[in-house]
Amino acid sequence: MAVVSVLIVDLHSHSRASDGLLSPAEVARRAAGNGVGMLALTDHDETGGLAQARAAAEQAGLRFIDGVEISIEWGGLQVHIVGLDFDVRDAALNAGLESIRSGRVNRARRMSAELEKFGVPGCFAGAMRHAENPNLIGRPHLARHLVEIGVCKDVHSVFESFLVPGKPGYVSHQWATLAQALGWILGAGGVAVLAHPGRYKFSRQELRDLLDEFKGLGGQAIEVVSGSQSPEHSAEFSRLAREYGFLASCGSDFHGPGESSVDVGGNAPLPGDLTPVWTAFH
Ligand code: AMP
Ligand code: MN
Ligand code: MN
Ligand code: MN
Repeated sequence: MAVVSVLIVDLHSHSRASDGLLSPAEVARRAAGNGVGMLALTDHDETGGLAQARAAAEQAGLRFIDGVEISIEWGGLQVHIVGLDFDVRDAALNAGLESIRSGRVNRARRMSAELEKFGVPGCFAGAMRHAENPNLIGRPHLARHLVEIGVCKDVHSVFESFLVPGKPGYVSHQWATLAQALGWILGAGGVAVLAHPGRYKFSRQELRDLLDEFKGLGGQAIEVVSGSQSPEHSAEFSRLAREYGFLASCGSDFHGPGESSVDVGGNAPLPGDLTPVWTAFH
């Protein structure tokens, strides 16, 4: 009987270098244990975990792809652009990511001030205790603190009640632009991927406008399969990938055991007729 081995590919994951719960090496070893054959670590606005993840991944015999997930603002919302297979030493990319990181501490202080007005003091210090990389402080660290002090039962409920637009702990923030993120990724020789397009609260037309602008700026791929998207989303984004001629990417968006519903490598495979993003890797 012929045995067909399918390559498990996960091109979207997080470590403690941003808002994940495991070290970069632990993410890589967990991926290997789950049968992953190709892994990208894509921490938010940060490449500091890549060397450690690569060493652990290669030791475990899996192919490692350098990655990053860049926070941008588009159409009034926070959108994420994943960069894959770029030169991690690229100066403009590193300066750009540094410029995004430098705004995060101030944003966390402003969110904490809003939560204090709401009656929950001390959130900045509390969130910082959860952030191994203080420059990367973000909403998940605040959420973990609010769960720890018993304000909400889990991280997801904190987001629903406090940390999204219209809720008392949310503040708007100046992220990078779409053009900047694409400029940095492409300038460093990487491939730009629109992350989890199903997560954004855009109308159909707004999403098409985003895809047009992304493609016009040199964006090559979209996440057809994501741990934070449904099978219906995968069908919709497969159609859009075919229509636009985008390469297709897939990933778990794993943040940690217990917090992510999909484990690293636990994302579904890509539909067979799409061209995988890894065909564009070096
Ligand atoms: P930030 O970069 O500080 O704006 O935080 C964004 C991160 O928060 C995302 O990358 C997710 O890890 C997490 N997140 C966003 N929305 C939710 C949600 N509804 N439930 C749980 N985590 C979320
Ligand atoms: Mn995250
Ligand atoms: Mn994201
Ligand atoms: Mn992510």
